Amino acid sequence: MKNPWHNHTLARELDLGIAAVAEAGLLCRAVQDRIDPGALQKKDRSPVTVADFGSQALICRTLGEVFPDDPVIGEEDSAALREAGNETLAGWVVKHVTQHLPGHMAPDLDQVCAWIDRGNAKDYSPRFWTLDPIDGTKGFLRKQQYAISLALIIEGEIEAAIVGCPNLGESLTGDRGTGTLYAAIRGQGAWQLPLSGEGEPVRVHVSKQVDPTLIRFCESVEAAHSSHGDAARIAEHLAIAAEPARLDSQAKYAVVARGEAEAYLRLPRDAEYKEKIWDHAGGLLIVTEAGGKVTDIKGRELEFNHGHLLGKSMGVIVTNGLVHDAVIEAIRELGIGEF
Ligand code: AMP
Ligand code: MG
Repeated sequence: MKNPWHNHTLARELDLGIAAVAEAGLLCRAVQDRIDPGALQKKDRSPVTVADFGSQALICRTLGEVFPDDPVIGEEDSAALREAGNETLAGWVVKHVTQHLPGHMAPDLDQVCAWIDRGNAKDYSPRFWTLDPIDGTKGFLRKQQYAISLALIIEGEIEAAIVGCPNLGESLTGDRGTGTLYAAIRGQGAWQLPLSGEGEPVRVHVSKQVDPTLIRFCESVEAAHSSHGDAARIAEHLAIAAEPARLDSQAKYAVVARGEAEAYLRLPRDAEYKEKIWDHAGGLLIVTEAGGKVTDIKGRELEFNHGHLLGKSMGVIVTNGLVHDAVIEAIRELGIGEF
C-alpha cells in the first residue's frame, strides 16, 4: 500500500525524513543498549555524545544527498569531536555511523564531521530543516524517553515533521516494542508508524476531553526545564485529579497527539531562557495535525522565523485544543511567568 501522503508535493521530503530518522533511531538504540550501569553512576556522558553525533551525521548525510541546497539548523557541530583527548569517542562515532550506512561505504572522521556540520546553520532562511538528533539526552542516559526530531520549515511555516521515539511503545503503559515514529505534512493529518519501518501508518488524534478537571497532563522529568511547582498550582486551580506523567523529550508531544494526555505544560523557570526551535518544531506539527493546539504560556503562537530561537515566546503549552483556553486562563490568573 502507498503512504496516505504519496501524492503530496512534499511526499519525497517526508519519506526521506522518515527513513533517515528511523535509521538514526536504530543507531541510538544500538548505542543505548550498550550503556552499562557503571557508566551511569560515573555520570559518563559519552554514550549520548556518540549517539547525538551519529544521529546528526546520518540524517544530515541523507538530507545533503537529496536536498543539497537546504540548510539544516541542528543542535550539534563537530568541533568537540575533533578536540584532543576525544579520539576514542570520535572512533566510536565513525564506527556506529558506518554500521548504519549502505554496505560499501566506509567514511573517515573528516567525512563524518562534514556530514555533522551540514547541520550547523544558525540563521533563518526561506526553506530549511531543523534537527534535534537526540532530544532528551538525560532520558537517553537513564534509558527512558528521548526523541529524534526533524522538521521542514518553509516561509516560517512548519510544513513537514518527523519525530522518532525509540523507547515509546504504542501505549505509555505497554512495552516499548520496536519504538514508534510520528510523521505529518501540514494539512494531511498526523500518523504513527513503527520505528522499524514495517507496518502501515495509523492516523492519530488528540483526546476529545472538554472537561478541564479531567485533564491528564505531562511535563519534563527535569525540574530545571519546566517548573513542576507551577504545574501543580495549575492542577490545583483547575481541580485536576490525575498525577502528571513525567517524560523526557518530544515524546510528550506524541503522547498528546495520540490522545493519552490532554496537555503538555512547559512552564518557564526564569525570564531569560529562550526555547530552541529544534525542541518544538517537529512535535508542534504532529500535535496540530492530530487536532491539538500549541502556544506559549500567554497564548501566543510559536514563531519559526527567528533563526535557532523561538523569538519572543515564553514556555510552551500543548493541548488537545479543547482545554487550551482553560489552561491559558489559569496561568494568567495565577500570574505564572511574571518574573
Ligand atoms: P525535556 O526532555 O522536555 O526536559 O527537554 C529537553 C530540552 O530542554 C533540551 O533539548 C534542552 O534544549 C532544553 N532545555 C535546556 N535548559 C532548559 C531550560 N532552562 N528551560 C527549558 N528547556 C531547557
Ligand atoms: Mg532537545
